[in-house]
Amino acid sequence: MEEKNIKKPKRKKRCVSCRKPAEINVTVPFCAPCFIKHFDRRVERVVKKNKLAMAGDKILMAVSAGKDSLSCAHVLSKMRQERGFMLGVLHMDVGILECTSERSENVVREFCRERDIPFHFIRFREYLGADIVRIANSRRRTECSVCGAFKRYALNRFARENGYNKLATGHCADDIVRFFFKNWLAHNFSWIAKSKPMTLSNHPLVVSRIRPLFETTEAENLAYTKANNIVVAGCSRCSYFLRNDKWNDIFRVIDEKDRLFKIEFARGLEMAEFKVSDPNRVLNGCRICGEPTDKEMCVVCRLKGNKADDDQIEDTTVVEGD
Ligand SMILES: [Zn+2]
Ligand SMILES: [Zn+2]
Repeated sequence: MEEKNIKKPKRKKRCVSCRKPAEINVTVPFCAPCFIKHFDRRVERVVKKNKLAMAGDKILMAVSAGKDSLSCAHVLSKMRQERGFMLGVLHMDVGILECTSERSENVVREFCRERDIPFHFIRFREYLGADIVRIANSRRRTECSVCGAFKRYALNRFARENGYNKLATGHCADDIVRFFFKNWLAHNFSWIAKSKPMTLSNHPLVVSRIRPLFETTEAENLAYTKANNIVVAGCSRCSYFLRNDKWNDIFRVIDEKDRLFKIEFARGLEMAEFKVSDPNRVLNGCRICGEPTDKEMCVVCRLKGNKADDDQIEDTTVVEGD
């Protein structure tokens, strides 16, 4: 019985790839250089397999200054020369005090300068003529739900107006798996097209969406920014809103039992074929601004306009993250 209490000296974990002492242990132990290589390769595989970035593409990446979008922009910037695509970055001032800071703007601006990536910046107040906080208050909606709708609108419009043919977001395996369970249990299947690494444009005014981090987890993205010494200045409020619910606890338990669960689950979704047809969903131009919508007016114009128009606005279950 005594022996049980004698602790054996813990053997230091070694990198599974080169056997040097491990520094990062998210899924399996790696030294920093091997972890970076492993991460890059996984993203590259997703990009190649799903034709996310092809020669001649002009890709606009939405970068908030959080770990996910910065990791994604970093990998894409390393790949762009070899694969022959052009990369630009858009940072948005959404007009919510806690979410917007000069610091995050400067972090992204500096990140782009160091990598020679064209940097774009818009303010919702100017670009959309909208005050998110005021709209949310008058409509009794959360600022985050209004912000989400305006972000999707602004991203698509800005990309198209500036000649980008693809829009990249930092959605990672955590987001994908979470959306799957939330929406599946709500019997809401209209989001399924978003559970793939690419959502192709279905209308001349809609820019295709790509999600290069489909097979990497939030924890890996965080480790990746650290290993690359990338300065992060994310908004804690957004991640709180998006990730602080019962699913947080559920996934924490799953993560403890199986560190590859989210990656394998996302991979499964990537391979699965879903048949979703919604013949009634026809996109046309919003009668106010001309942007694509399946209603008479797009969600942004409805929120900005008369309260009577608000009846048509359904709460979107799928909340797109960073
Ligand atoms: Zn190594
Ligand atoms: Zn509109």
